[in-house]
Amino acid sequence: MDPPLDLAGVGIGPANLSLAALAAPVDGLRTAFFEQSPRFRWHPGLMIDGTTLQVPFLADLVSLVDPVNPLSFLAYLRDRERLFPFYLAENFHIPRAEYDDYCAWASARLPACRYGQRVRSVRWAGDVFELDVEPAGVVRARAVVLGVGTEPVLPAPLEPLAGNGVVHSADYLPARRRLLAAPDVTVVGSGQSGAEVFLDLLRARPSGHGTLRWLTRTPAYAPMEYSKLGLEQFTPDYVRFFHGLDEPTRDRLVPAQWQLYKAISAETIAEIHDELYRRTVGGGWPNTALLPGVEVVAAGEGDGRIELSLRHVAQGAAASVRTDAVVCATGYRERDTAALLAPLADLVERDAAGRLAVDADYRVRLRAGGPLFVQNAERHTHGVGAPDLGLVAWRSARILNTVCGREVHRLPARTAFTTFGLGEVP
Ligand SMILES: Cc1cc2nc3c(=O)[nH]c(=O)nc-3n(C[C@H](O)[C@H](O)[C@H](O)COP(=O)(O)OP(=O)(O)OC[C@H]3O[C@@H](n4cnc5c(N)ncnc54)[C@H](O)[C@@H]3O)c2cc1C
Repeated sequence: MDPPLDLAGVGIGPANLSLAALAAPVDGLRTAFFEQSPRFRWHPGLMIDGTTLQVPFLADLVSLVDPVNPLSFLAYLRDRERLFPFYLAENFHIPRAEYDDYCAWASARLPACRYGQRVRSVRWAGDVFELDVEPAGVVRARAVVLGVGTEPVLPAPLEPLAGNGVVHSADYLPARRRLLAAPDVTVVGSGQSGAEVFLDLLRARPSGHGTLRWLTRTPAYAPMEYSKLGLEQFTPDYVRFFHGLDEPTRDRLVPAQWQLYKAISAETIAEIHDELYRRTVGGGWPNTALLPGVEVVAAGEGDGRIELSLRHVAQGAAASVRTDAVVCATGYRERDTAALLAPLADLVERDAAGRLAVDADYRVRLRAGGPLFVQNAERHTHGVGAPDLGLVAWRSARILNTVCGREVHRLPARTAFTTFGLGEVP
Protein backbone atom coordinates (compact mmCIF):
# COMPACT_ATOMS: atom_id res chain seq x y z
CA MET A 1 0.00 0.00 0.00
CA ASP A 2 1.28 3.51 -0.88
CA PRO A 3 2.10 5.68 2.14
CA PRO A 4 -0.71 8.18 2.83
CA LEU A 5 -0.60 11.59 1.23
CA ASP A 6 0.33 14.49 3.49
CA LEU A 7 -2.54 16.50 2.05
CA ALA A 8 -5.52 15.71 -0.19
CA GLY A 9 -7.70 18.42 -1.70
CA VAL A 10 -11.33 17.94 -2.72
CA GLY A 11 -12.31 20.20 -5.64
CA ILE A 12 -10.09 22.35 -7.82
CA GLY A 13 -11.37 25.89 -8.06
CA PRO A 14 -9.12 28.90 -7.46
CA ALA A 15 -9.01 28.10 -3.71
CA ASN A 16 -7.50 24.61 -3.85
CA LEU A 17 -5.53 25.48 -6.98
CA SER A 18 -3.80 28.20 -4.98
CA LEU A 19 -3.05 25.67 -2.25
CA ALA A 20 -1.63 23.25 -4.83
CA ALA A 21 0.56 26.02 -6.28
CA LEU A 22 1.88 27.12 -2.88
CA ALA A 23 2.46 23.51 -1.80
CA ALA A 24 4.31 22.49 -4.98
CA PRO A 25 7.73 23.89 -3.99
CA VAL A 26 7.64 22.31 -0.48
CA ASP A 27 10.25 19.54 -0.46
CA GLY A 28 8.92 16.08 0.30
CA LEU A 29 5.28 17.15 0.77
CA ARG A 30 3.02 14.61 -0.95
CA THR A 31 -0.24 16.12 -2.16
CA ALA A 32 -3.07 15.34 -4.56
CA PHE A 33 -6.12 17.39 -5.52
CA PHE A 34 -9.25 15.81 -7.01
CA GLU A 35 -11.70 17.59 -9.30
CA GLN A 36 -14.89 16.05 -10.70
CA SER A 37 -14.84 18.08 -13.95
CA PRO A 38 -12.65 16.83 -16.79
CA ARG A 39 -10.51 19.99 -16.79
CA PHE A 40 -10.13 23.33 -15.04
CA ARG A 41 -12.95 25.74 -15.87
CA TRP A 42 -13.92 28.86 -13.96
CA HIS A 43 -17.64 29.73 -14.14
CA PRO A 44 -17.90 28.99 -17.90
CA GLY A 45 -21.62 29.88 -18.07
CA LEU A 46 -20.85 33.49 -17.20
CA MET A 47 -17.77 34.06 -19.34
CA ILE A 48 -19.50 36.98 -21.07
CA ASP A 49 -17.35 38.95 -23.53
CA GLY A 50 -15.83 42.03 -21.94
CA THR A 51 -16.34 41.01 -18.29
CA THR A 52 -13.39 41.46 -15.96
CA LEU A 53 -12.18 40.25 -12.61
CA GLN A 54 -13.54 42.37 -9.74
CA VAL A 55 -10.15 42.35 -7.99
CA PRO A 56 -6.70 43.40 -9.22
CA PHE A 57 -4.57 40.77 -11.00
CA LEU A 58 -2.34 40.53 -7.91
CA ALA A 59 -5.12 38.43 -6.40
CA ASP A 60 -3.76 35.54 -8.46
CA LEU A 61 -3.09 32.10 -6.99
CA VAL A 62 0.15 32.98 -5.23
CA SER A 63 1.38 36.59 -5.48
CA LEU A 64 -0.03 38.06 -2.27
CA VAL A 65 1.99 35.44 -0.37
CA ASP A 66 4.80 34.42 -2.71
CA PRO A 67 5.26 36.83 -5.62
CA VAL A 68 8.29 34.92 -6.95
CA ASN A 69 6.36 31.65 -7.22
CA PRO A 70 6.71 30.20 -10.77
CA LEU A 71 2.89 30.12 -11.04
CA SER A 72 2.25 33.85 -10.55
CA PHE A 73 0.15 35.78 -13.07
CA LEU A 74 3.27 37.65 -14.23
CA ALA A 75 5.06 34.32 -14.78
CA TYR A 76 2.08 33.24 -16.90
CA LEU A 77 2.35 36.40 -18.97
CA ARG A 78 6.08 35.85 -19.44
CA ASP A 79 5.46 32.25 -20.49
CA ARG A 80 2.86 33.41 -23.01
CA GLU A 81 5.18 36.24 -24.20
CA ARG A 82 2.54 38.84 -23.34
CA LEU A 83 4.37 40.90 -20.71
CA PHE A 84 4.88 43.95 -22.91
CA PRO A 85 1.26 44.20 -24.09
CA PHE A 86 0.15 43.80 -20.45
CA TYR A 87 2.54 46.49 -19.30
CA LEU A 88 1.27 48.94 -21.91
CA ALA A 89 -2.37 48.07 -21.23
CA GLU A 90 -1.94 49.44 -17.65
CA ASN A 91 -4.90 47.37 -16.60
CA PHE A 92 -5.16 45.95 -13.10
CA HIS A 93 -8.55 44.34 -13.76
CA ILE A 94 -7.89 41.60 -16.27
CA PRO A 95 -10.59 39.96 -18.42
CA ARG A 96 -12.36 37.09 -16.68
CA ALA A 97 -11.45 34.85 -19.61
CA GLU A 98 -7.78 35.64 -18.99
CA TYR A 99 -8.05 34.64 -15.32
CA ASP A 100 -9.61 31.34 -16.43
CA ASP A 101 -6.80 30.79 -18.95
CA TYR A 102 -4.17 31.65 -16.31
CA CYS A 103 -5.65 29.16 -13.82
CA ALA A 104 -5.80 26.44 -16.51
CA TRP A 105 -2.15 27.20 -17.35
CA ALA A 106 -1.13 26.91 -13.68
CA SER A 107 -3.14 23.74 -13.23
CA ALA A 108 -1.42 22.10 -16.21
CA ARG A 109 1.91 22.69 -14.43
CA LEU A 110 0.78 21.01 -11.21
CA PRO A 111 1.03 17.21 -11.43
CA ALA A 112 -0.85 16.97 -8.10
CA CYS A 113 -4.06 18.14 -9.84
CA ARG A 114 -6.18 15.18 -10.97
CA TYR A 115 -9.26 15.82 -13.10
CA GLY A 116 -12.31 13.65 -13.76
CA GLN A 117 -12.14 12.41 -10.14
CA ARG A 118 -15.15 12.83 -7.90
CA VAL A 119 -14.71 12.48 -4.16
CA ARG A 120 -17.78 10.70 -2.83
CA SER A 121 -16.97 10.64 0.87
CA VAL A 122 -14.31 11.30 3.48
CA ARG A 123 -13.97 9.08 6.57
CA TRP A 124 -11.56 8.82 9.47
CA ALA A 125 -9.90 5.40 9.63
CA GLY A 126 -8.34 5.83 13.07
CA ASP A 127 -4.93 7.04 11.87
CA VAL A 128 -5.57 8.63 8.46
CA PHE A 129 -8.46 9.92 6.37
CA GLU A 130 -9.77 7.67 3.61
CA LEU A 131 -11.29 9.37 0.59
CA ASP A 132 -13.61 7.42 -1.62
CA VAL A 133 -12.63 8.76 -5.05
CA GLU A 134 -14.38 7.79 -8.27
CA PRO A 135 -12.85 6.28 -10.37
CA ALA A 136 -9.42 6.33 -8.61
CA GLY A 137 -10.55 4.26 -5.60
CA VAL A 138 -9.62 4.76 -1.96
CA VAL A 139 -7.01 7.46 -1.30
CA ARG A 140 -5.42 7.83 2.16
CA ALA A 141 -4.31 11.20 3.48
CA ARG A 142 -3.13 12.68 6.78
CA ALA A 143 -4.90 16.00 6.11
CA VAL A 144 -7.84 16.96 3.88
CA VAL A 145 -8.88 20.33 2.49
CA LEU A 146 -12.40 20.78 1.12
CA GLY A 147 -12.47 23.40 -1.64
CA VAL A 148 -15.81 22.40 -3.15
CA GLY A 149 -17.07 25.93 -3.81
CA THR A 150 -20.65 27.04 -4.17
CA GLU A 151 -23.83 26.04 -6.00
CA PRO A 152 -26.44 28.24 -7.72
CA VAL A 153 -29.62 29.21 -5.84
CA LEU A 154 -33.01 29.81 -7.50
CA PRO A 155 -35.79 31.71 -5.71
CA ALA A 156 -38.24 29.15 -4.26
CA PRO A 157 -41.21 30.18 -6.48
CA LEU A 158 -39.12 29.68 -9.63
CA GLU A 159 -37.50 26.37 -8.67
CA PRO A 160 -40.26 24.18 -10.19
CA LEU A 161 -39.82 25.96 -13.55
CA ALA A 162 -36.04 25.38 -13.78
CA GLY A 163 -35.20 24.33 -17.33
CA ASN A 164 -38.70 25.34 -18.50
CA GLY A 165 -37.88 28.87 -19.53
CA VAL A 166 -36.11 29.60 -16.22
CA VAL A 167 -32.31 29.44 -16.01
CA HIS A 168 -29.81 30.43 -13.36
CA SER A 169 -27.20 32.96 -14.49
CA ALA A 170 -24.56 30.24 -13.95
CA ASP A 171 -26.00 28.67 -17.15
CA TYR A 172 -26.45 31.94 -19.01
CA LEU A 173 -24.17 31.42 -22.01
CA PRO A 174 -25.65 28.07 -23.13
CA ALA A 175 -29.12 29.73 -22.95
CA ARG A 176 -28.08 33.04 -24.55
CA ARG A 177 -29.21 32.35 -28.10
CA ARG A 178 -32.71 31.43 -26.89
CA LEU A 179 -32.81 34.51 -24.66
CA LEU A 180 -31.87 36.76 -27.57
CA ALA A 181 -34.72 35.36 -29.63
CA ALA A 182 -37.36 35.39 -26.87
CA PRO A 183 -39.79 38.32 -27.22
CA ASP A 184 -39.99 39.16 -23.49
CA VAL A 185 -37.20 38.39 -21.02
CA THR A 186 -36.98 39.00 -17.27
CA VAL A 187 -33.72 39.13 -15.33
CA VAL A 188 -34.09 38.67 -11.56
CA GLY A 189 -31.37 39.86 -9.17
CA SER A 190 -29.10 42.88 -9.01
CA GLY A 191 -25.70 41.58 -8.08
CA GLN A 192 -22.79 41.78 -10.52
CA SER A 193 -24.01 38.75 -12.49
CA GLY A 194 -27.53 40.18 -12.90
CA ALA A 195 -26.09 43.46 -14.15
CA GLU A 196 -23.78 41.69 -16.60
CA VAL A 197 -26.59 39.55 -17.98
CA PHE A 198 -28.94 42.53 -18.32
CA LEU A 199 -26.25 44.57 -20.09
CA ASP A 200 -25.34 41.76 -22.45
CA LEU A 201 -28.98 41.15 -23.40
CA LEU A 202 -29.59 44.88 -23.77
CA ARG A 203 -26.68 45.20 -26.17
CA ALA A 204 -27.30 42.06 -28.18
CA ARG A 205 -31.08 41.84 -28.53
CA PRO A 206 -32.36 43.42 -31.74
CA SER A 207 -33.90 46.83 -31.06
CA GLY A 208 -37.68 46.90 -31.23
CA HIS A 209 -37.81 43.45 -29.68
CA GLY A 210 -40.20 42.93 -26.72
CA THR A 211 -39.55 44.07 -23.18
CA LEU A 212 -36.32 43.40 -21.33
CA ARG A 213 -37.21 43.55 -17.63
CA TRP A 214 -34.81 43.68 -14.69
CA LEU A 215 -36.24 43.30 -11.24
CA THR A 216 -34.63 42.96 -7.86
CA ARG A 217 -35.75 42.70 -4.26
CA THR A 218 -33.04 45.13 -3.13
CA PRO A 219 -34.37 48.69 -2.89
CA ALA A 220 -31.88 50.08 -5.46
CA TYR A 221 -29.33 49.10 -8.12
CA ALA A 222 -26.55 49.69 -5.64
CA PRO A 223 -22.83 50.12 -6.33
CA MET A 224 -20.32 47.70 -4.83
CA GLU A 225 -18.25 49.16 -1.98
CA TYR A 226 -14.94 49.75 -3.69
CA SER A 227 -13.27 52.46 -1.60
CA LYS A 228 -9.73 51.71 -0.51
CA LEU A 229 -10.50 51.76 3.22
CA GLY A 230 -13.76 49.87 2.65
CA LEU A 231 -11.77 47.14 0.90
CA GLU A 232 -9.74 46.63 4.06
CA GLN A 233 -12.65 44.42 5.12
CA PHE A 234 -11.10 41.93 2.70
CA THR A 235 -7.80 41.73 4.56
CA PRO A 236 -6.48 39.10 6.98
CA ASP A 237 -6.69 41.74 9.77
CA TYR A 238 -10.45 41.94 9.31
CA VAL A 239 -10.79 38.16 9.05
CA ARG A 240 -9.01 37.80 12.42
CA PHE A 241 -11.29 40.41 14.01
CA PHE A 242 -14.44 38.83 12.58
CA HIS A 243 -13.49 35.34 13.70
CA GLY A 244 -13.08 36.65 17.27
CA LEU A 245 -16.70 37.89 17.44
CA ASP A 246 -19.46 35.79 18.93
CA GLU A 247 -21.81 33.87 16.65
CA PRO A 248 -24.91 36.11 16.96
CA THR A 249 -22.83 39.22 16.23
CA ARG A 250 -21.21 37.60 13.19
CA ASP A 251 -24.63 36.56 11.93
CA ARG A 252 -25.87 40.15 12.25
CA LEU A 253 -22.83 41.62 10.52
CA VAL A 254 -22.75 39.56 7.32
CA PRO A 255 -26.16 40.62 5.92
CA ALA A 256 -25.47 44.22 6.96
CA GLN A 257 -22.36 44.15 4.74
CA TRP A 258 -24.32 43.23 1.60
CA GLN A 259 -22.84 46.10 -0.40
CA LEU A 260 -19.42 44.47 -0.06
CA TYR A 261 -20.48 41.37 -1.96
CA LYS A 262 -23.98 41.63 -3.44
CA ALA A 263 -23.90 44.89 -5.36
CA ILE A 264 -22.75 46.00 -8.84
CA SER A 265 -19.46 47.56 -9.90
CA ALA A 266 -19.84 51.27 -10.62
CA GLU A 267 -18.39 50.68 -14.13
CA THR A 268 -21.09 48.18 -15.02
CA ILE A 269 -23.81 50.52 -13.72
CA ALA A 270 -22.35 53.31 -15.88
CA GLU A 271 -22.21 51.04 -18.94
CA ILE A 272 -25.86 50.10 -18.47
CA HIS A 273 -26.87 53.75 -18.14
CA ASP A 274 -24.85 54.69 -21.25
CA GLU A 275 -26.49 51.91 -23.21
CA LEU A 276 -29.99 52.96 -22.11
CA TYR A 277 -29.22 56.62 -22.82
CA ARG A 278 -28.12 55.82 -26.39
CA ARG A 279 -31.54 54.30 -26.99
CA THR A 280 -33.28 57.58 -26.18
CA VAL A 281 -31.48 59.55 -28.89
CA GLY A 282 -34.11 60.72 -31.35
CA GLY A 283 -36.86 60.50 -28.74
CA GLY A 284 -38.68 57.72 -26.97
CA TRP A 285 -37.70 55.39 -24.14
CA PRO A 286 -35.98 52.04 -24.42
CA ASN A 287 -38.12 48.95 -24.28
CA THR A 288 -36.92 48.04 -20.82
CA ALA A 289 -38.34 47.94 -17.30
CA LEU A 290 -36.04 48.40 -14.31
CA LEU A 291 -37.88 47.50 -11.12
CA PRO A 292 -35.98 47.70 -7.82
CA GLY A 293 -37.64 46.76 -4.53
CA VAL A 294 -39.72 44.09 -6.27
CA GLU A 295 -39.77 40.40 -5.43
CA VAL A 296 -41.21 37.38 -7.21
CA VAL A 297 -43.72 35.80 -4.84
CA ALA A 298 -45.18 33.15 -7.15
CA ALA A 299 -44.65 31.80 -10.65
CA GLY A 300 -46.61 29.58 -12.98
CA GLU A 301 -46.55 28.38 -16.56
CA GLY A 302 -49.22 28.43 -19.26
CA ASP A 303 -49.35 28.59 -23.09
CA GLY A 304 -45.56 28.35 -23.19
CA ARG A 305 -45.18 31.57 -21.18
CA ILE A 306 -44.29 32.23 -17.56
CA GLU A 307 -46.49 34.24 -15.27
CA LEU A 308 -44.72 36.03 -12.43
CA SER A 309 -46.62 37.39 -9.42
CA LEU A 310 -44.74 40.38 -8.08
CA ARG A 311 -44.84 42.35 -4.87
CA HIS A 312 -43.27 45.72 -4.16
CA VAL A 313 -41.48 45.27 -0.83
CA ALA A 314 -41.97 48.86 0.41
CA GLN A 315 -45.36 49.64 -1.13
CA GLY A 316 -46.89 46.23 -0.61
CA ALA A 317 -48.46 46.67 -4.07
CA ALA A 318 -48.96 43.53 -6.19
CA ALA A 319 -48.81 43.00 -9.94
CA SER A 320 -48.25 40.20 -12.41
CA VAL A 321 -46.39 39.97 -15.71
CA ARG A 322 -46.19 37.38 -18.45
CA THR A 323 -42.75 36.75 -19.82
CA ASP A 324 -41.10 34.24 -22.18
CA ALA A 325 -37.90 33.56 -20.27
CA VAL A 326 -36.41 34.28 -16.85
CA VAL A 327 -32.74 34.50 -15.89
CA CYS A 328 -32.24 34.22 -12.13
CA ALA A 329 -29.05 35.98 -11.11
CA THR A 330 -29.92 35.13 -7.54
CA GLY A 331 -26.56 34.05 -6.26
CA TYR A 332 -24.92 30.96 -4.84
CA ARG A 333 -24.73 29.16 -1.53
CA GLU A 334 -21.88 27.16 -0.07
CA ARG A 335 -22.07 23.64 -1.49
CA ASP A 336 -23.72 21.23 0.92
CA THR A 337 -21.02 18.92 2.27
CA ALA A 338 -23.37 16.68 4.32
CA ALA A 339 -23.08 13.71 1.92
CA LEU A 340 -19.33 14.11 1.50
CA LEU A 341 -18.81 14.22 5.27
CA ALA A 342 -21.53 11.69 6.17
CA PRO A 343 -19.01 9.14 7.56
CA LEU A 344 -17.66 11.92 9.82
CA ALA A 345 -21.10 13.11 10.93
CA ASP A 346 -20.58 12.06 14.57
CA LEU A 347 -17.16 13.71 14.75
CA VAL A 348 -17.85 17.09 13.15
CA GLU A 349 -18.65 19.92 15.59
CA ARG A 350 -21.33 22.37 14.48
CA ASP A 351 -22.57 25.75 15.68
CA ALA A 352 -26.06 26.62 16.97
CA ALA A 353 -27.33 26.91 13.38
CA GLY A 354 -25.87 23.53 12.36
CA ARG A 355 -22.98 25.01 10.38
CA LEU A 356 -19.42 23.70 10.53
CA ALA A 357 -17.40 24.99 13.51
CA VAL A 358 -14.25 26.37 11.86
CA ASP A 359 -11.15 27.48 13.78
CA ALA A 360 -9.08 30.54 12.93
CA ASP A 361 -6.69 28.40 10.85
CA TYR A 362 -9.64 27.10 8.72
CA ARG A 363 -9.65 23.76 10.50
CA VAL A 364 -13.05 22.15 11.08
CA ARG A 365 -13.40 21.17 14.73
CA LEU A 366 -13.57 17.36 14.96
CA ARG A 367 -14.15 15.39 18.15
CA ALA A 368 -11.47 12.99 16.91
CA GLY A 369 -9.43 12.71 13.75
CA GLY A 370 -6.75 14.48 11.76
CA PRO A 371 -6.82 17.96 10.31
CA LEU A 372 -9.79 18.68 8.03
CA PHE A 373 -9.80 22.17 6.52
CA VAL A 374 -12.30 24.18 4.46
CA GLN A 375 -11.82 26.93 1.91
CA ASN A 376 -14.78 29.13 0.96
CA ALA A 377 -17.20 27.38 3.32
CA GLU A 378 -16.58 29.66 6.29
CA ARG A 379 -18.41 32.93 5.71
CA HIS A 380 -20.27 32.43 9.02
CA THR A 381 -16.96 32.21 10.94
CA HIS A 382 -14.52 34.25 8.82
CA GLY A 383 -16.76 36.86 7.20
CA VAL A 384 -17.59 38.21 3.77
CA GLY A 385 -14.05 37.63 2.47
CA ALA A 386 -14.55 33.83 2.31
CA PRO A 387 -15.18 33.71 -1.49
CA ASP A 388 -12.90 36.66 -2.29
CA LEU A 389 -9.99 35.91 -4.63
CA GLY A 390 -7.83 38.47 -2.82
CA LEU A 391 -7.71 36.26 0.27
CA VAL A 392 -7.20 32.96 -1.54
CA ALA A 393 -3.38 32.85 -1.42
CA TRP A 394 -3.21 34.00 2.20
CA ARG A 395 -5.78 31.43 3.36
CA SER A 396 -3.98 28.66 1.45
CA ALA A 397 -0.68 29.67 3.05
CA ARG A 398 -2.23 29.57 6.54
CA ILE A 399 -3.54 26.08 5.88
CA LEU A 400 -0.22 24.95 4.45
CA ASN A 401 1.73 26.34 7.42
CA THR A 402 -0.60 24.43 9.78
CA VAL A 403 -0.28 21.19 7.78
CA CYS A 404 3.52 21.45 7.71
CA GLY A 405 3.76 22.57 11.35
CA ARG A 406 6.16 25.36 10.38
CA GLU A 407 6.17 28.70 8.61
CA VAL A 408 6.55 27.51 5.01
CA HIS A 409 5.27 30.89 3.84
CA ARG A 410 5.94 33.95 5.98
CA LEU A 411 2.71 35.90 6.47
CA PRO A 412 2.51 39.59 7.32
CA ALA A 413 1.61 40.51 10.92
CA ARG A 414 -0.38 43.54 9.74
CA THR A 415 -2.35 44.02 6.53
CA ALA A 416 -4.65 47.05 7.04
CA PHE A 417 -4.39 50.69 8.11
CA THR A 418 -7.73 50.32 9.89
CA THR A 419 -7.66 48.89 13.42
CA PHE A 420 -10.51 46.41 13.68
CA GLY A 421 -11.74 46.04 17.25
CA LEU A 422 -10.65 47.67 20.46
CA GLY A 423 -7.70 45.90 21.92
CA GLU A 424 -4.62 47.94 22.60
CA VAL A 425 -5.57 51.34 21.23
CA PRO A 426 -2.61 52.78 19.31
C1 LIG B 1 -19.24 34.53 -12.22
C2 LIG B 1 -18.43 34.74 -10.98
C3 LIG B 1 -17.42 35.68 -10.99
C4 LIG B 1 -16.67 35.90 -9.85
N1 LIG B 1 -15.71 36.85 -9.89
C5 LIG B 1 -15.00 37.11 -8.80
C6 LIG B 1 -14.02 38.17 -8.81
O1 LIG B 1 -13.83 38.83 -9.82
N2 LIG B 1 -13.33 38.41 -7.67
C7 LIG B 1 -13.55 37.69 -6.53
O2 LIG B 1 -12.90 37.97 -5.52
N3 LIG B 1 -14.46 36.69 -6.49
C8 LIG B 1 -15.18 36.38 -7.59
N4 LIG B 1 -16.12 35.38 -7.56
C9 LIG B 1 -16.29 34.62 -6.29
C10 LIG B 1 -15.25 33.47 -6.11
O3 LIG B 1 -14.00 33.89 -6.21
C11 LIG B 1 -15.43 32.34 -7.08
O4 LIG B 1 -16.71 31.79 -6.89
C12 LIG B 1 -14.38 31.20 -6.97
O5 LIG B 1 -14.56 30.37 -8.07
C13 LIG B 1 -14.44 30.41 -5.70
O6 LIG B 1 -13.43 29.42 -5.76
P1 LIG B 1 -13.52 28.02 -5.04
O7 LIG B 1 -12.26 27.30 -5.35
O8 LIG B 1 -13.88 28.21 -3.63
O9 LIG B 1 -14.79 27.28 -5.68
P2 LIG B 1 -15.15 26.85 -7.17
O10 LIG B 1 -14.50 27.72 -8.16
O11 LIG B 1 -16.63 26.74 -7.19
O12 LIG B 1 -14.52 25.39 -7.32
C14 LIG B 1 -14.97 24.29 -6.58
C15 LIG B 1 -14.70 23.04 -7.39
O13 LIG B 1 -14.96 21.88 -6.61
C16 LIG B 1 -15.45 20.87 -7.46
N5 LIG B 1 -16.11 19.87 -6.62
C17 LIG B 1 -17.21 20.02 -5.84
N6 LIG B 1 -17.50 18.86 -5.20
C18 LIG B 1 -16.56 17.96 -5.58
C19 LIG B 1 -16.33 16.60 -5.26
N7 LIG B 1 -17.11 15.94 -4.40
N8 LIG B 1 -15.28 15.98 -5.84
C20 LIG B 1 -14.48 16.63 -6.72
N9 LIG B 1 -14.66 17.91 -7.07
C21 LIG B 1 -15.69 18.59 -6.51
C22 LIG B 1 -16.39 21.62 -8.39
O14 LIG B 1 -16.59 20.89 -9.58
C23 LIG B 1 -15.61 22.92 -8.62
O15 LIG B 1 -14.81 22.86 -9.78
C24 LIG B 1 -16.90 35.15 -8.67
C25 LIG B 1 -17.93 34.21 -8.66
C26 LIG B 1 -18.69 34.02 -9.80
C27 LIG B 1 -19.82 33.03 -9.75
